[in-house]
Amino acid sequence: MNIHEYQAKALLKSYGAPVAEGVAIFSADEAEAAAKSLPGPLYVVKSQIHAGGRGKGKFKELSADAKGGVRLAFSVDEAKAHAKEMLGNTLVTAQTGPAGKQVNRLYIEDGADIDRELYLSLLVDRSVGQIAFVVSTEGGMDIEAVAHDTPEKIVNVAINPEAGVTATDLAKLTSALKLESEAKADAEKLFPILYKAFVEKDMSLLEINPLIVMKNGRMRVLDAKVSFDGNALFRHDDIRALRDETEEDAKELEASKWDLAYVALDGNIGCMVNGAGLAMATMDIIKLYGKEPANFCDVGGGAGKEKVAAAFKIITADPKVEGILVNIFGGIMKCDVIAEGVVAAVQEVGLKVPLVVRLEGTNVELGKKILNESGLAITAADDLDDAAKKIVAAING
Ligand code: GDP
Ligand code: MG
Repeated sequence: MNIHEYQAKALLKSYGAPVAEGVAIFSADEAEAAAKSLPGPLYVVKSQIHAGGRGKGKFKELSADAKGGVRLAFSVDEAKAHAKEMLGNTLVTAQTGPAGKQVNRLYIEDGADIDRELYLSLLVDRSVGQIAFVVSTEGGMDIEAVAHDTPEKIVNVAINPEAGVTATDLAKLTSALKLESEAKADAEKLFPILYKAFVEKDMSLLEINPLIVMKNGRMRVLDAKVSFDGNALFRHDDIRALRDETEEDAKELEASKWDLAYVALDGNIGCMVNGAGLAMATMDIIKLYGKEPANFCDVGGGAGKEKVAAAFKIITADPKVEGILVNIFGGIMKCDVIAEGVVAAVQEVGLKVPLVVRLEGTNVELGKKILNESGLAITAADDLDDAAKKIVAAING
C-alpha cells in the first residue's frame, strides 16, 4: 500500500525527522489560508498523487509550457494561483503512464533554500536478508539513470537487524554522502530514526529523493515516498486509515476487499485460478498457444461460493477480456464450490465472452455436473493443454 507525500512526511515527523511545515488542501479556496499559515517568503505547491516525477510532469489540460506538478511560489497570491491551476487537472509523469493521474490534493509547504540534493532510500535487500540504506550524492534526479551510468555513485549499506544502525554504518553513510559539521550531525540523528520507522511500521520502501542540505547547513526531508507491506497492514490501523482508494485500480481494490490476489496484465484472456504456481502455468500455456493473459485472479485455497463469484465478476468487468479460462485444481478447494460460484456469477452478470473451464481434484464429478446442468454456454476441458487450446480457438473465432 502506498501513501501520499504529505502523509509520509507527517509520519516521519512524528518520529522526529526534520520536515518543513506544510498544509494539505483539497480545494483552491483553502490555498490562501494554508499559505498564510506558513512563514514564507518561499512556498512550494506540490501535487499529491501516488507517483513520482511530479516536478517534471505535465498537466494534460494546460499548455505545454505551463509549469509542472511541483511549483515554487514567491507570494501567497502566487501559491493561490498555482493551486487554482493545478487542482482537478490530470498530471502525466514518467511514472503515471500516458493516462496520468487527477490531482485532487495539494500540499503547500514552506520552501527551503537548497544547497545540495541527495538521494536516500531504505528497502528490504533480499540478497542479504536485511534492510539496507541506499544513498547517493546525486539526488533530485532520475536515480535509475545514475544507477545505469555511474553505479559507483550509489552506496548500499545493509543493517544487521540485531545491532541496528551502528556507528560504523553511520560513518559509511555520512562519508558516502560527503556530509560535514551540522548536516553530518543531523544525518546521524536522522538515519536511525528512519530505520526505526521502517521496521516499526512494516514498510517495504522508504525513498527520500531529495534529502537536502540547506544553505544554512541543516538537513531536511524534501520528498518522501513510502510503501507498506500489505501482509502486515492488519497490525497498523493508523496506516490503513491513510489509504486513498481513488489512487488505486478499481478492480485491484475490489479484489483486495475479497482477499483475492488479482493482477492486471496486457492481453485478452481472463484467468481464474487457484494457487500462484497454477497461475504461472496457466499464463505460460496461453502464451504457448499464441495469446496473452489479460489478468489472473487467484482465489486461493479455501474460497467459498461468494468469493468465487466476486472473482469471476472482477474478471468479466474488464473490457479487454475476450475469453475466460477457469483453471482449478481442487486440493483444499472443492470443484463443486467453484462451479457454483461461476454459475451464480454468470446468472447475475451474464456471459458475453467464451468461457472454458478445466476442473480437476476434489468433487470434480459433482462440479462438472453443476456446470452441465446450468444450461450455460460453458466449454468443458479435460486438461490444461486442452483448456488453453480451446480458449485460444474460441477467441480466434
Ligand atoms: P518529484 O518531482 O515528484 O520527485 O517531487 P519532489 O518533491 O522531489 O520535488 C521536485 C523538485 O522540486 C526537487 O528536486 C527540488 O529541486 C524542487 N523543490 C521541491 N521543494 C523545494 C523547496 O522547498 N525549495 C526549492 N528551492 N526547491 C524545491
Ligand atoms: Mg522527488
